[in-house]
Amino acid sequence: FLARNNRGGDGSGVGGRRMPVGLRNPAKRVLVTGGAGFVGSHLVDKLIERGDTVIVVDNFFTGRKENVLHHLGNPRFELIRHDVVEPILVEVDQIYHLACPASPVHYKHNPIKTIISFDFKTNVMGTLNMLGLAKRTGARFLLTSTSEVYGDPLEHPQKETYWGNVNPIGVRSCYDEGKRTAETLTMDYHRGAGVQVRIARIFNTYGPRMCIDDGRVVSNFIAQAIRKEPMTVYGDGKQTRSFQYVSDLVAGLMALMEGDHIGPFNLGNPGEFTMLELAEVVKETIDPRATVIFKPNTADDPHKRKPDISRAKQLLNWEPKISLREGLPMMIDDFRRRILH
Ligand code: NAD
Ligand code: UDP
Ligand code: UDP
Repeated sequence: FLARNNRGGDGSGVGGRRMPVGLRNPAKRVLVTGGAGFVGSHLVDKLIERGDTVIVVDNFFTGRKENVLHHLGNPRFELIRHDVVEPILVEVDQIYHLACPASPVHYKHNPIKTIISFDFKTNVMGTLNMLGLAKRTGARFLLTSTSEVYGDPLEHPQKETYWGNVNPIGVRSCYDEGKRTAETLTMDYHRGAGVQVRIARIFNTYGPRMCIDDGRVVSNFIAQAIRKEPMTVYGDGKQTRSFQYVSDLVAGLMALMEGDHIGPFNLGNPGEFTMLELAEVVKETIDPRATVIFKPNTADDPHKRKPDISRAKQLLNWEPKISLREGLPMMIDDFRRRILH
């Protein structure tokens, strides 16, 4: 299998056909780890649309083959079932490294079933392997880090210069510290081995193809309202988050990869909502009779979160375009189809 994918840097890509060179962006061979997941599959759609050759590496831990099914059979697309914790040999020009068991269910709501610190291992060993791959091939490497590196922030809104407030021994720390370590590795490979790197700090993102039962708040509320169950508000519901629609994020990730700046860059929508306000918007959009019930919150839950995106606006010429009220209906259509059919 390694020999099959190790085609050498001849530019032919998967399937052996030379791709047409676009006017603005020459076609590239792009590796997307976690490409069968929610964000990854939307990114793959855009890369394929642009004319790139795309290799997805995914172990389907939280991702689904259905998310990329429409590309199977395309000679510019290849899907490899592989765990990034293990080394891999492929020849590519760019690596978008998204692979990460990102769902909060695994570390917050069902910790017993989770292999101890699985997130941490994926973030550390997986990122190390992808950086090793970037070093060997000369590919540009983009890490999808997270706003969770800011922990329960004492600065509001959060700028990239803020170092964060993370509890290193808390229930969330396998994810937060895993991503912080991934950022460290990324900068070390840049400084020490000259790898071209980019770092995105992604804020809460929603949209079609999100896991239905992954425990995140937007997917929970929408699924509950569609199923005519009460929406579960954790704590008093006054904590805030800023929700970004997935196409805005994908545009930001591509602008970051193609641009000249390493980052880190906050990629998020600065529109800030309490969880009670979010429940209200979901209620207005899905079912005016929808109700909420209150449940205890998890420890170390950040009280507020809102990105300062001045850096991305200035250096990447990027800003989100889709508001929560515009984005939610597009996600609801997808959830209705998946839940009711
Ligand atoms: P997701 O769970 O839908 O996608 C992650 C993908 O990685 C899945 O397809 C999963 O199967 C795959 N994966 C997990 N472990 C793997 C491994 N060891 N080897 C290979 N593949 C593996 O989550 P998402 O929301 O699409 O997140 C994508 C990236 O963006 C993640 O790195 C996540 O931390 C980051 N991020 C997302 C958000 C958000 O709100 N969605 C916020 C901050 C950061
Ligand atoms: N690696 C990989 N694919 C490659 C090159 C490297 O998976 O094409 C892995 C490699 O197995 C190692 C990691 O990336 O575990 C880091 O590689 P690097 O060359 O930086 O370190 P070294 O192998 O010297 O420890
Ligand atoms: N939350 C909630 N109800 C749910 C799921 C989550 O009120 O059914 C809250 C959660 O406690 C947190 C916020 O919504 O304060 C965002 O949670 P999520 O897991 O979506 O993202 P993160 O905590 O990673 O920002």
